[in-house]
Amino acid sequence: AADQLNRRGHDVTVFERNDHIGGLLMYGIPNMKLEKWVIDRKQKVMEEEGVKFVVNADVGKTVKAADIVKDYDSVILACGASNPRDIKATGREADGIYFAVDFLTRSTKHVLTGKKDGWVDTKGKNVVVIGGGDTGNDCVGTAVRQGAKSVVQIEMMPKLPDERAANNPWPEWPRVCKTDYGQEEAIAVFGKDPRIYQATVKEFIADKSGKLKKVKLVKLEPKKDAKTGRLNMVEIPGSEFEIPADYVLIAAGFLGTQDYVAKAFGVKLNARTNVETAEGSYKTSVDKVFTAGDMHRGQSLVVWGINEGRHVAREVDEFLMGYTNLP
Ligand SMILES: Cc1cc2nc3c(=O)[nH]c(=O)nc-3n(C[C@H](O)[C@H](O)[C@H](O)COP(=O)(O)OP(=O)(O)OC[C@H]3O[C@@H](n4cnc5c(N)ncnc54)[C@H](O)[C@@H]3O)c2cc1C
Repeated sequence: AADQLNRRGHDVTVFERNDHIGGLLMYGIPNMKLEKWVIDRKQKVMEEEGVKFVVNADVGKTVKAADIVKDYDSVILACGASNPRDIKATGREADGIYFAVDFLTRSTKHVLTGKKDGWVDTKGKNVVVIGGGDTGNDCVGTAVRQGAKSVVQIEMMPKLPDERAANNPWPEWPRVCKTDYGQEEAIAVFGKDPRIYQATVKEFIADKSGKLKKVKLVKLEPKKDAKTGRLNMVEIPGSEFEIPADYVLIAAGFLGTQDYVAKAFGVKLNARTNVETAEGSYKTSVDKVFTAGDMHRGQSLVVWGINEGRHVAREVDEFLMGYTNLP
């Protein structure tokens, strides 16, 4: 959005709460998937073209939302949807439990600076990743490359078939088991798939000093809800078992946007805790405030972030000029 609006001739300032711009491309997606010089290069090009970047500026906390609204003709909220879903099991306070993006951020900072401060080093440790999605896979790959002793990935749902089922023909989205680079690397190092399906955490078990040592898991089975007809994953009584865990990385999904920014600007959220707009529009409930990216559509993909950035730039340009020639 900044790039498009700048090229159109507007003055654009990007506020970023972190020490580096780039969002999850910078701190989230691991270095082996996206090398960070790509972001630095893009930032330099945009700076030379006139975009201003202000880092360590947490809007709604260290920078007042009211000042931004007062000082600028238009505002785009593109703060992502990185509010992590927690696992509320007994022992959650144990030392050694991290949210996935915190762990990945600390790992990237270490890769870039070599500093050990804040780094979660899983070398020689037993690592349990909770969540079988793409973020969990990035955690598996990172732990494997750090030299973890064991890496286990817990997935609530049953394993998908290796090939399309008869009720899932082309051109439907293939509902088949995907083995991504992290899992492939785990298989290469440990000789087996790191995933345990149909299981969830019952308890985090720490030693006397509070350090995590084990995780108690319970097996799950799909059961139809009598009222709604929906399939729910329910615990199988007596199926608990324990596995060693020095570190647990929670990659159990995201719950929409962190609401302090939305509150600071007074914009309405929808039922999915994303910022509300009319269908096909990026305009929020507050005058001259727009939104785009994950903050608008929920956790998504980089291509959607780019697409929404371009569309919101178009709408903002039209709002400021009365017409637009942006694509
Ligand atoms: C671990 C992980 C791996 C992923 N891998 C892929 C992948 O391989 N391919 C793919 O297409 N997608 C991937 N995604 C998804 C993709 O990264 C996101 O969809 C995309 O980054 C969304 O862009 P965004 O700009 O909307 O939000 P974000 O990238 O989340 O950026 C939001 C930015 O706003 C900043 N911010 C938030 N609040 C404030 C505030 N109050 N003040 C100032 N700044 C603030 C944040 O610090 C952040 O820099 C991955 C996501 C994760 C979590």
